[in-house]
Amino acid sequence: MLDYVNIGLKQHIGVGATPIVSVGDNVKKGQLIAVCDGLGANIHSSVYGVVYEADGGFVKIVADEHQPDEFVKIKDTTTHLEAIKEAGVVGAGGAGFPTHVKFDVDLDGGVFILNAAECEPILGHNLRVLSEQPDLIVRGIKYAMDIVNAKVGYIAIKPKHLKEMIAIARACKNEPNIEIKYLPDVYPIGDERAIVREVLGITLAPGQLPSFVNAIVSNVETIKRVVEAIELRKPVITKDFTVAGRINSDVRIYLDEPIGMPVKKYIDDCGGYIKPHGEILLGGPFTGISGDEQSVITKTLVGIFVAMPYPNNDNKFGVLACECGAGEDRLNEIVAGMGGEVVAYAKCKRMTKVNERYRCEEPGNCPGQAEKILALKNAGAQAVVVGTCED
Ligand code: SF4
Repeated sequence: MLDYVNIGLKQHIGVGATPIVSVGDNVKKGQLIAVCDGLGANIHSSVYGVVYEADGGFVKIVADEHQPDEFVKIKDTTTHLEAIKEAGVVGAGGAGFPTHVKFDVDLDGGVFILNAAECEPILGHNLRVLSEQPDLIVRGIKYAMDIVNAKVGYIAIKPKHLKEMIAIARACKNEPNIEIKYLPDVYPIGDERAIVREVLGITLAPGQLPSFVNAIVSNVETIKRVVEAIELRKPVITKDFTVAGRINSDVRIYLDEPIGMPVKKYIDDCGGYIKPHGEILLGGPFTGISGDEQSVITKTLVGIFVAMPYPNNDNKFGVLACECGAGEDRLNEIVAGMGGEVVAYAKCKRMTKVNERYRCEEPGNCPGQAEKILALKNAGAQAVVVGTCED
């Protein structure tokens, strides 16, 4: 049952959107409720209802009891790229980069790569779409190739996902320009530079975008939303995600749930918590951030994970951070949750500073960290929390 949705005005990289609705307005599902001036994305209502609040970074809408399936279509556009912009499509794999900006390139006959890696353990919703809607995804690849002027389309997938690989391979058997490419069975492999390295054999420098080598990478759900925008004129009002952890259910996959719904609805839908339980993690197990029951579904939310309670551990800790896993903030949070104290910091030895930001030199090709661990020990750490993928 829908009570309300709380729709964030900044669910993407860039600036937040500005509301164009006021408290008391009746809104329809799919109606444009906030627009972006600059790098960002349009925001639409995911329900029929009445605007209750329209500031503080959210538009809160009290939902009508009756929720027809029909939605307000995006306005007429002349190009597919404009349709993607109108629909507010952003990278659905977690990054949230506006897709109309990413696709506004001319690859000069280059390569479009579908990231079908399912970037973190346990997540399964992109694989579900691949196996259930492979024809839609192939159409999406062709739209993307056409928009960015790519001659070749690659589907990057791990061979262990055999069922999904067979489904998508069948769907593109008559597409001479689309090919399956294998990814190694490691995490993290969904990073764009890792995908380019594995598929094209080109190692991009930290901070370098795939477009530098005439390539574009997009994940499965993003392409699904692209197809919906072009074929159905549907704005991004729903999200796919995976729910797992200390819930009274096996891992559960949800497709096309309304953006703005509180995550508690889905925990309840999974039979509630297994007690005792710890924090609610929003995102994947590697990169998720701490949330609560009132946190809501966004355009980039990939998972809801209920953790086990933190063990009590009042040791002195060293923190070893990674670009693609947990960073320092998250690791600090974990140490605080255990009741410990952080006495030393280190970063994975492959992290290097580019434009004032630490980036990984070779995502997914993770080294041992023995010397870092020793340095943390020498700095007084009795235990280490790691956001890296090795050791
Ligand atoms: S090499 Fe280091 S920073 Fe890069 S993904 Fe692996 S652990 Fe993370």
